Amino acid sequence: MSSKDIYDIAIIGAGPSGCACALALHGSGLRVVLVDKAAFPRDKVCGDAIPGQAFKAMDRINPEWGLKMRNFLDKTEVKSDLGFLPKNKPIPFKWTNYSYNSKRIHFDHFLLNLVRSESATTILQNHQLQKVSIQNGAVNCDFQDGSSIQSSLIIGCDGANSIIKRQLSSLALRDETHSVAVRAYYRNIKDLQNGVNEFHFLKECSPGYFWIFSLDNGWANVGFGMPAYKVQKGKTPLSLRKSLETIITTNPAIASRFKNAECMGNTRGFALPLGSNRKPISGERFVLCGDAASLIDPIGGHGIDNAMWSGFFAAEQAIRCFQTKNFDAGFMKGYDDAVYKKIGKSFTRGQLLLKLEMFYPFVFSLLALLMKNKKIGDRFIRLLVG
Ligand SMILES: Cc1cc2nc3c(=O)[nH]c(=O)nc-3n(C[C@H](O)[C@H](O)[C@H](O)COP(=O)(O)OP(=O)(O)OC[C@H]3O[C@@H](n4cnc5c(N)ncnc54)[C@H](O)[C@@H]3O)c2cc1C
Repeated sequence: MSSKDIYDIAIIGAGPSGCACALALHGSGLRVVLVDKAAFPRDKVCGDAIPGQAFKAMDRINPEWGLKMRNFLDKTEVKSDLGFLPKNKPIPFKWTNYSYNSKRIHFDHFLLNLVRSESATTILQNHQLQKVSIQNGAVNCDFQDGSSIQSSLIIGCDGANSIIKRQLSSLALRDETHSVAVRAYYRNIKDLQNGVNEFHFLKECSPGYFWIFSLDNGWANVGFGMPAYKVQKGKTPLSLRKSLETIITTNPAIASRFKNAECMGNTRGFALPLGSNRKPISGERFVLCGDAASLIDPIGGHGIDNAMWSGFFAAEQAIRCFQTKNFDAGFMKGYDDAVYKKIGKSFTRGQLLLKLEMFYPFVFSLLALLMKNKKIGDRFIRLLVG
């Protein structure tokens, strides 16, 4: 007999997808364990912009928790966005969906505390999953500290470097849609407006963008991202950290605003697995959520909303599995259907736009022209930030 702890569902990763899933399983009567390698509060490299759809996902799980998420204190409410194209005046956009910026160290801690206070989920921190296998109708998880658990179903919410994706699915960890990004915290940026998120479309970052997202106390989250193949191009891979510094110190539209700005801490980079054509994101006794399933919006780079929606759909699928006692790969596809029905359309559109970047001077000129029309510009920015 093994001395492993036994659960119905093991959720690996307590970021937005894992917490949303645990919350959506509240009241299911299933024994759920939520495991993370980190001890919270923990940092996560991000732009810290919590998109409107993340609130909608939480409302769907439980409107009261949606309200709690809105009333959370460590935030800067986003009142509008500003789009900057070379040689154009900044274009302001007002939002219909409520959203805010919040450092992930605070936001993710809030989500985990919500799981702790509102559900019977067992939470294990400082548990790094090393090995996962499926044998005789059970999922076995072995952790770095030598401990193990067993479950009937596993939900992979373990982010861009997912162990579950690598060990249980046939998906490659990195594919052609893979992107990378860096972010740094700054304060004292000239003309920084509280509650305004800036998107700068610079040649240096095409087909991505350079962002300045305002936070409280005069701080801002500053960064940019681009497809991994562009970083690897040539013999020496591009250093995104250095490129960020170059933009901040030399770009004519940016540098004067950073003259007296102070960098708070290190510049940090991380992967962005972007959404693309439909791929299998589940299999016998497992599903992948959020970044582990490559669900980041390919145009806007936002993934917290899609992570939370996928966590919700994973919980719905899990409940169906236990009701019907069916954990087959074919049955699990119901999860893929739900995810791609909700967010798949934006992936196809986004990938098409990314391909257009090959003609980037042309795309820039076209965008500049289109953005002069308020209605078209407005639609484009909405597409971008979700
Ligand atoms: C530079 C950058 C800027 C971004 N900006 C934005 C933005 O402004 N807005 C937005 O919506 N999205 C943004 N994103 C994307 C967003 O960060 C992700 O889409 C989102 O965090 C995905 O949530 P998740 O729950 O799937 O994964 P994560 O948030 O990555 O959570 C995964 C969790 O799994 C844990 N884990 C990992 N491996 C293991 C293991 N082996 N064992 C146990 N636990 C493990 C980790 O500790 C972590 O807590 C940005 C990404 C980057 C890189």
